[in-house]
Amino acid sequence: MNKKIILRDDEMPTSWYNVVPDIPNGLQPPLDPETMQPVSPEKLAAVFPMGLLEQEMSAERLIPIPEEVREIYGIWRPTPLVRATNLEKALGTKAKIFFKNESVSPVGSHKPNSAVAQAYYNKREGVKRLSTETGAGQWGSALSMAAGMLGLECKVYMVRVSFDQKPYRKSMMKTYGADVVASPSPDTNVGRAILEKDPGCNGALGIAISEALEDAATHDNTNYALGSVLNHVVLHQSIIGLEAKKQMEIAGEYPDVIIGCCGGGSNFAGFAVPYVPDYLEGKKIRFVGVEPESCPTMTAGRLAYDSGDVAMMTPLLYMYTLGHDFMPPGIHAGGLRYHGMAPIVSALVRENIIEPVSVHQLECFEAGILFAKTEGIIPAPETCHAIRGAIVEATRDLNEPKTIMFNFSGHGLIDMAAYDNYLAGNLHNYAMPEEEIAASLANLPTVK
Ligand SMILES: *Cc1c(COP(=O)(O)O)cnc(C)c1O
Repeated sequence: MNKKIILRDDEMPTSWYNVVPDIPNGLQPPLDPETMQPVSPEKLAAVFPMGLLEQEMSAERLIPIPEEVREIYGIWRPTPLVRATNLEKALGTKAKIFFKNESVSPVGSHKPNSAVAQAYYNKREGVKRLSTETGAGQWGSALSMAAGMLGLECKVYMVRVSFDQKPYRKSMMKTYGADVVASPSPDTNVGRAILEKDPGCNGALGIAISEALEDAATHDNTNYALGSVLNHVVLHQSIIGLEAKKQMEIAGEYPDVIIGCCGGGSNFAGFAVPYVPDYLEGKKIRFVGVEPESCPTMTAGRLAYDSGDVAMMTPLLYMYTLGHDFMPPGIHAGGLRYHGMAPIVSALVRENIIEPVSVHQLECFEAGILFAKTEGIIPAPETCHAIRGAIVEATRDLNEPKTIMFNFSGHGLIDMAAYDNYLAGNLHNYAMPEEEIAASLANLPTVK
């Protein structure tokens, strides 16, 4: 048996897969918060290039990957699919566990799959500068790298708590040539207003998104880039699942369970959706999306129209949400601290195709450490959630010979402060109090 299954460069997929036309009962359109009518493409064109807007609304199943994007992907793609035999042995399970290793990208996560594509389409349409938000810093480093490679300027609003906890992500972004500020920042109206009320504000992705959007709206030649949630991001990430499907075929295996961690939903969706057509044709596959107990968007939130940011500048998306002013606690899986979930993932949960589960952070770090000791790679705190999900599946019945596949979304080499905290016994589990969720859900926009 081969430990790892690798594809040759010329076996890299040449198109992305768009799952939207295959979703039973489809997606609800994004709404303009001013008129409560479906948002017009012209309005979105103020901050996004046409190339990405076309993808956002596309009903085509296959969308070709531009040659220039494929060439950059070629630096680290195709990524390996690895059988976690040492983990299987440590667990004493008859299950086979495979993981798709997205941590081999230059910045250590799946994020550049979309960052490179987004920078490419913006550049093609003459945009000179990109603004964005970042939580844990993974998306900010991916976009900074892509912008640097394609000759664009980049401004990153980084959630305050991560800015202080993860100084090396900041150094990476600066190395790639980006300008990084802690959010809330004094650089925007939204940021100044929040700082005036709460000078010590920890920040949240929803605030950083408002700042990046305001930046794009108030600077010529600047567009906005979002690292998850939107349909075009899920589309770009589908390369993960398309490769994995080919690799599983080469291994002569078929997954019974497909698992990923969910922040905004892009790595899990990109990994899982290429198997949705098989599922609809009757294959028995379970899709398990794992989220933190402290930010339980799918398991305790509501499926409703909500804004993607605090200042309600984004179109209203029909998604599972905890409310746009939900303040997640400062857990270490910063990339999973978002109040909403991709409309694509939300619709697949609604159709009972994706099963959402929530897990506590301590059991995730424990899972991550077992993984590091057995398979060698230290996982990002976000990725630990997927590993925990895979361990739960593999140990429910140790004698059941099932095939489990999970997405290894990123390594944790720049998150070692989180591991230090865990090992020192300083981390705790947080379950979100129901009243707090109810209070933020009470502020959802009213849609007739
Ligand atoms: C950003 C990030 C996530 C969460 O984002 P999704 O859009 O849900 O994929 C998960 N893992 C890593 C390593 C990340 O950087």
